[in-house]
Amino acid sequence: MYPLPFVYKKAQSIAEAVAWAGDDSRFLAGGQSLLPMLNLQLASVGLLIDVNAIAELAAIGEDRAALSVGALTRHDTLARHATVRRASPLLAEAASLVGNPRVRRRGTLGGSVAQADPAAELVTALLALDAEIDVVSPDGRQRYTVPSLMLGPLLTVLRSQELVVGVRVPHREPAEGQAFVEVARREGDFALVAVAARLWIRSGRVARAAIAVGGAAEMPIRLADLEAWLKGQKAGAPLWDAAGERVSDEVRAVGDPFAGAAYRTHLSRVLVCRALAQAERARGAS
Ligand SMILES: Cc1cc2nc3c(=O)[nH]c(=O)nc-3n(C[C@H](O)[C@H](O)[C@H](O)COP(=O)(O)OP(=O)(O)OC[C@H]3O[C@@H](n4cnc5c(N)ncnc54)[C@H](O)[C@@H]3O)c2cc1C
Repeated sequence: MYPLPFVYKKAQSIAEAVAWAGDDSRFLAGGQSLLPMLNLQLASVGLLIDVNAIAELAAIGEDRAALSVGALTRHDTLARHATVRRASPLLAEAASLVGNPRVRRRGTLGGSVAQADPAAELVTALLALDAEIDVVSPDGRQRYTVPSLMLGPLLTVLRSQELVVGVRVPHREPAEGQAFVEVARREGDFALVAVAARLWIRSGRVARAAIAVGGAAEMPIRLADLEAWLKGQKAGAPLWDAAGERVSDEVRAVGDPFAGAAYRTHLSRVLVCRALAQAERARGAS
């Protein structure tokens, strides 16, 4: 009989989970990334802290400013929840495109944020949405933006004692259009490239745009220069085409065995154009 490679404990509260955590521990949420990594010996852990029994981590609510989504919210719930679909259709659409139904029923929002996969739909969506991520550690509560949290592929600033407890997403404004589009090799695969876009149009001109691209580079990126360039221009198909042509100025695409850098750049161009057109059509939709 082999000794257990790690100790497993199930926390009943956030305080308990955080108090147990140490240098050699990991939190277990949906297990859709962590368990394959442990099985393949790509990760090791001394203490596995299961957070699935902590009910408050699965709460979804809203106040006047923002939608709040608990870290333990499953991708499937995020995709279907009426409040989420109204307050942030982009987030719901992104969740509906994660993996396959089995992954969506187990995988969680907090796990996806902590895992920081470069192609993660939810991280790309949160980046475009200017979302804030709430984290609890023995030092107290802290709030991060996506750029302040992400360091690189599969790498965040989070220490092993820091538990993601929830995400705050500003409500979609009445005049704001949102869209999330992606291309994957097969349905259920990670996206080769995914694009999240938000668009405000006043008197026929772009008042504001927010665009994030996932899967193309080493982590999801905001196209700040393109957003600034779009401002004040006449909205419509010619502008979305021209915006697509400028994408390669900001996207430093990387290649892997599934797709080369040039193809990912091409996809980014096409998908930014498509997402802006879709966001324009979605304005005012509930
Ligand atoms: C076949 C398959 C296809 C997939 N396809 C996609 C896809 O297309 N797009 C996509 O984005 N993902 C995909 N995934 C990954 C999936 O989205 C995972 O659910 C997600 O990446 C991690 O969430 P989890 O809840 O399963 O986290 P876990 O696997 O439980 O944990 C992942 C990591 O996050 C840490 N962690 C978990 N919760 C917290 C928390 N609250 N606070 C701090 N740290 C935490 C863990 O310690 C671990 O290091 C796929 C997975 C599989 C198996």
